[in-house]
Amino acid sequence: MENPGTVFTQISDFLDYLGSDFATNFAKSEALANLNPTPKFPFLCSRHFADLIKKSSDPTALLSEILPHVAERENVPGFVDDPVGDLPASKSDCVIQKYDGRALIVSTATCGVRCRFCFRKNYPFQNIPDVAREVSNWIDTHSDVWEVILSGGDPLTLSPGAFRDLVESIAVHPSVTTLRIHTRLPVMRPDLVMQHFELLRELPTRFHCVLVSHVNHADELDNESATLFAHFKICGWTLLNQSVLLKGINDSPDKLTALCRKLFEQGVLPYYLHQLDHANGVAHFEVPDERARELIAEIRTKLPGYLVPKLVREIAGEKSKTPV
Ligand SMILES: *Cc1c(COP(=O)(O)O)cnc(C)c1O
Ligand code: SF4
Repeated sequence: MENPGTVFTQISDFLDYLGSDFATNFAKSEALANLNPTPKFPFLCSRHFADLIKKSSDPTALLSEILPHVAERENVPGFVDDPVGDLPASKSDCVIQKYDGRALIVSTATCGVRCRFCFRKNYPFQNIPDVAREVSNWIDTHSDVWEVILSGGDPLTLSPGAFRDLVESIAVHPSVTTLRIHTRLPVMRPDLVMQHFELLRELPTRFHCVLVSHVNHADELDNESATLFAHFKICGWTLLNQSVLLKGINDSPDKLTALCRKLFEQGVLPYYLHQLDHANGVAHFEVPDERARELIAEIRTKLPGYLVPKLVREIAGEKSKTPV
């Protein structure tokens, strides 16, 4: 299992890889006890993330991010297939525009792992034959858009050729001055990020470039993520992070403080802490608003102001993220 591209699609193979010591120690953990072996949103974990779990001092937290839980089968009122109103805001098969000046591209359905709390877990990803052309045509008629956000799925899972085509199709429009990439790959598949590095290095000469990593727990960050972020930084990228507040994973002042400090050590500023989007099958991750506000108040007493993320929720139909 030395290949960094190894992925686990079978829960049993993944648990074997974690090893018998691990299994013995954690067999009684809630995450394993409540495993759902046949999830509707299939299990996927990278070898890199499995290694992070093995090294973690809080492995149950990381496991809960990716191990299917029986609670996903429950139908909870208010938890729906399109919790943030992506579909009404769709402008084409792959462009979503909700906010002034910014457009979001659903570049691909593929991710490095499958996060159980994913807000797009029920998204009807289209099979788009030519995302690059579609995006380019759309920007042609929308010169008010100055920031293009690559999202997905995870845009850095595109093949180097497809990713380059997409970026070039955006770069030909002088109206677009900022390119933003939202990705979880620096902590899930750092090997795939490196495949794009030649292009990523060139981009800041054409755009203002912003990388928003999605990291939820300090133990997701290691030497490999530090090296990657350092590469981006040297090339002139602005590095931000967004997290989701998740019950049992990062809902304590100590864990959030550790996360924000470690991000900063790796050159990344905390940007948003999101309240959970109410997608079907994620209700067991919910942290009540009142508790979320208490947590932010508490970390504000422990961190410099520039390391305290903004606590927000996305409400369908609003003109921006909404402060909680
Ligand atoms: C969240 C989001 C953005 C980015 O919002 P910022 O507040 O600028 O980070 C843009 N477009 C869509 C569709 C979004 O969901
Ligand atoms: S990386 Fe993002 S889009 Fe992909 S499964 Fe995780 S939360 Fe969902």
